Amino acid sequence: MTESCCDLHCHTTESDGTLTPRELVRLAREIGLKTIAVTDHDTIAGIESAKRAGEEFGVRVLSGVEISVEYAAKTVHMLGYCFDAGAAKLQAGLDRLVSGRNERNAKIVARLNELGCAVTLEEIEAEAGGKVVGRPHIARVLLRHGYVATWEEAFDKYLARGAAAYFERLRFSPVDDVALIREAGGVAVLAHPKYVALHEGETLEDILQTLVHAGLGGMECYYTDHTPEETAYYLELARRYNLVVTGGSDFHGDVKPEIALGVGKGNLCVPESCAEALIERAARQ
Ligand code: AMP
Ligand code: ZN
Ligand code: FE
Ligand code: FE
Repeated sequence: MTESCCDLHCHTTESDGTLTPRELVRLAREIGLKTIAVTDHDTIAGIESAKRAGEEFGVRVLSGVEISVEYAAKTVHMLGYCFDAGAAKLQAGLDRLVSGRNERNAKIVARLNELGCAVTLEEIEAEAGGKVVGRPHIARVLLRHGYVATWEEAFDKYLARGAAAYFERLRFSPVDDVALIREAGGVAVLAHPKYVALHEGETLEDILQTLVHAGLGGMECYYTDHTPEETAYYLELARRYNLVVTGGSDFHGDVKPEIALGVGKGNLCVPESCAEALIERAARQ
């Protein structure tokens, strides 16, 4: 690991990762990262302790969050960075998303029970450690009980969009999401553009134009699963639309052991200049 890499997409035990914020920062220090951003799903609860650990271990920690929004009947993941983590409106928006998750999770459990999978909401919440509960936690409980043999089976059979126990949950539109992040002083970023599903005839640029119009400030060009060709294409798009280039591994700890902090599947290196550019953009807008 060279000294000039950062990782701006990391999950912790506050959502579906397996390292606590402090453990994450300590690992970042061990592998020589200068800067990380904690980007848990729908929560910023880990940021304060991550920042404290950042001071302890000498790692710069940026505030971050990952929110999946509803765009043309599809899910698009958005990241928010460098916002004021004390902003009341941001917290209220995230609280609504978590309530929406809890309502959805109850429906999933009821349907799973009907389908013969005797799992309870309590054990799923225990799996999540009392934090933001997601489908990955439900998948883990299904696996532990032997109702499915693999993670993929849990999603294909029950949890993926359109599967037997799938239910929608409250999601913001991209416009609302961008506003939420920007009003808190942050920069809204399109996450892993590779995984933006496109309708027939639609291009990534169509979606980008809508998002840029709404106030999008950046794009995650460097990402674990992006090929060099894809990265080059996203870098070119970011340049054309005047977007800050960001990047990260999407580290989740033991639940996704194939993805390592900082380096992803081995050869990821997000230039430290990405972190600088984000900070600068947040200060300017
Ligand atoms: P949630 O935020 O609770 O709706 O769960 C979303 C998470 O579930 C994603 O971040 C993925 O980790 C996982 N996930 C969603 N769809 C799939 C799928 N088809 N296969 C595997 N994992 C998935
Ligand atoms: Zn996740
Ligand atoms: Fe994501
Ligand atoms: Fe993620």
